[in-house]
Amino acid sequence: MPRYGMFIDATKCVGCHACRVACQNQNELPAKENFNRIEEREYGRFPNFNREFLPVQCQHCDNPPCLKVCPTGATYKRKDGVVLVDDKKCVGCKYCMVACPYSVRVISEEHGVVEKCRFCIEMVEKGKEPACVTTCMTKARTFGDLNDPNSEVSKKIGKYKAKTLRADLNTKPSLYYRKT
Ligand code: SF4
Ligand code: SF4
Repeated sequence: MPRYGMFIDATKCVGCHACRVACQNQNELPAKENFNRIEEREYGRFPNFNREFLPVQCQHCDNPPCLKVCPTGATYKRKDGVVLVDDKKCVGCKYCMVACPYSVRVISEEHGVVEKCRFCIEMVEKGKEPACVTTCMTKARTFGDLNDPNSEVSKKIGKYKAKTLRADLNTKPSLYYRKT
């Protein structure tokens, strides 16, 4: 059984937002709702001044706090590690939005349910990659099986000693980052 995950090389991200837009198109989201956000941080001193971009989306936690607080069982984790929301069971209570430490869940104004990144699982099951991965012109994103030591994603995580966000929270994310 695979465990799906992603490596994001923030040193390659140029903050173009193409991944956010591709994700919005893929998920037919209105302009003000998105599953991907690009955080910006400026560092250094003149003249060695720089800016870093950090794409953040659902981390597909192995120990997801969002799941524990869901009163209807709408949020669930698949055997391959992908965390999803069953929109037929979601009552829009937003408990999960409060519980998620990464603030990656959004409420759909149109449907009244909570949504988020699904790793484009329908495409992945057809052998394709998530929309954010294929659209990234700098190849900052690598998707694949974390359980396979020979997968590209596992190799890059090892090569760059990539780390998860807020590892101290014990959420055990499936997204790994290389930062400056
Ligand atoms: Fe960064 Fe790639 Fe997203 Fe552009 S598409 S913002 S380079 S991760
Ligand atoms: Fe849940 Fe947030 Fe973790 Fe995604 S990042 S699995 S929404 S706690």
